[in-house]
Amino acid sequence: MGMNVKAVPSIRIRNMNRRPVNSGGDYVLYWMTTSRRANSNYGLQRAAEHASRLKKPLVVFEGLRCGHQWAAARYHHFVADGMRDNQARFHEHGVTHYPWMEPSPGAGKGLLQALARRACVVVGDDFPVFFLPRMTAAAAKLLDVAFEIVDSIGLLPLHASDQAFSSAYAFRRFLHESLHLHIPQAPEPDPLSAADFPRKSAGLDGVRKTWPALKMNTRTFLKDFPINHGIGPGVFRGGTTAARERLEVFLNTGLSRYGEERSHPSSGAASGLSPWLHWGHISAHEVFQRVMEKENWDPSSLPTRGNGRREGFWKVSLSAQAFLDELITWRELGFHYCAHNPMYDRWESLPAWARDSLTRHAADKRPWIYALEQLDAAATHDGIWNAAQRQLLREGFIHNYMRMLWGKKILEWSSTPMEALENMIELNNRYSLDGRNANSYNGIFWVMGRFDRPWGPERPIYGMVRYMSSAQTAKKFRLAEYLAQYAA
Ligand SMILES: Cc1cc2nc3c(=O)[nH]c(=O)nc-3n(C[C@H](O)[C@H](O)[C@H](O)COP(=O)(O)OP(=O)(O)OC[C@H]3O[C@@H](n4cnc5c(N)ncnc54)[C@H](O)[C@@H]3O)c2cc1C
Repeated sequence: MGMNVKAVPSIRIRNMNRRPVNSGGDYVLYWMTTSRRANSNYGLQRAAEHASRLKKPLVVFEGLRCGHQWAAARYHHFVADGMRDNQARFHEHGVTHYPWMEPSPGAGKGLLQALARRACVVVGDDFPVFFLPRMTAAAAKLLDVAFEIVDSIGLLPLHASDQAFSSAYAFRRFLHESLHLHIPQAPEPDPLSAADFPRKSAGLDGVRKTWPALKMNTRTFLKDFPINHGIGPGVFRGGTTAARERLEVFLNTGLSRYGEERSHPSSGAASGLSPWLHWGHISAHEVFQRVMEKENWDPSSLPTRGNGRREGFWKVSLSAQAFLDELITWRELGFHYCAHNPMYDRWESLPAWARDSLTRHAADKRPWIYALEQLDAAATHDGIWNAAQRQLLREGFIHNYMRMLWGKKILEWSSTPMEALENMIELNNRYSLDGRNANSYNGIFWVMGRFDRPWGPERPIYGMVRYMSSAQTAKKFRLAEYLAQYAA
């Protein structure tokens, strides 16, 4: 057991209800919803900080709801894998881990309150999209004890700025000026070892009687859950262990080729980490740290300014610079955008030039029009597109370059740009392990012009929005392997 845990930077903490901490409570409660991990997690670190100060045990409640439109066995299994990993880690550290999934919509009603009744303070995760902001706001009204949420999303705190940046260039400039303030405050890699609090069971018998613990040891434990069982587990195992294995493979076989080969659909040069990043099974900080170790990066070389360019800021290889630009600039641009623009999933949030141009071309004749069902079934005339859709159906993932093409064609083949948006959101969030994320919406809206600029020449359907074609893609990459892998 270590000395004491570092304080979480206050810029990452939001007090949600201005209620007092109850120092007479029995434990500190960490309500884990999006940072589903025991390491490099500011939320857990904050909870451990409270537990040390109050000399109380720590309880981690890791929940999963089933009442939303996209709940499916694919995601439940992925989360359950993570829960098993977490259970082992928390157990080792003398922390009570209480994993729980709703067996029917609304069955979890009252559970958080019941757990909070005996808590000194409740700490939750800050996540700016999907139902999570509504859920934490509702909890703030219900809880009688201090409730704070903690931002553990990226290297730059979500509240380091109060604006939604409109381009990667502008955001990168801001990052270049700010990261030196935040990188030295990285989360504790192992907050549970670092913190000094009583390692004892919190005795949750009363709560467990009403909300019995999950028996997660079989592959069939979900069979009676009212979720979409047609979307079954993909090929990936969830959890921190699997995420770290994937990261090691990337460091050893992908990173050095990333700059050149990332966009090549079957090169294996991309990390493929987005599903685990989405569910919080691994942190961006840990990925960053491991990449920088591999690159022998000297943290004292971190500049305090930059010019907004992709290259030259980090003193590492070109491949690593390219990767950091995705992991930090693009990923966090997306989270910042959604955190500061509640309209992130609405047509109206597109830049005016894109809306105008797409509207002007909304009545253009479409050579092909596909309804949601045809797209879903990968039943278009375009074999490359169908392969990408089949990758999504089978694996819950699409390679990055193919996602761009996938989206552009849906724009081209829908009767209106608004319908294209709806269908992209539906398919992405229905099937993708990393769906329902800030970057689900940003990727989809990028297809329609978000974070982009007008591109000439003006074309039918697309107007001034950037165009992509399957023919160009086939010319640029050796697609045979990809097409064979995702054949009908
Ligand atoms: C139509 C469309 C839909 C998309 N839907 C999603 C989604 O549902 N969830 C999601 O996380 N991303 C989405 N993206 C963004 C991007 O395609 C994926 O994050 C990336 O392909 C994940 O693969 P990887 O982990 O191998 O990425 P790598 O190339 O290894 O990059 C490392 C990490 O950086 C981040 N990243 C990479 N590219 C982008 C990007 N363009 N924008 C934002 N962050 C990025 C991801 O977290 C990724 O895991 C979408 C893009 C498009 C065009």
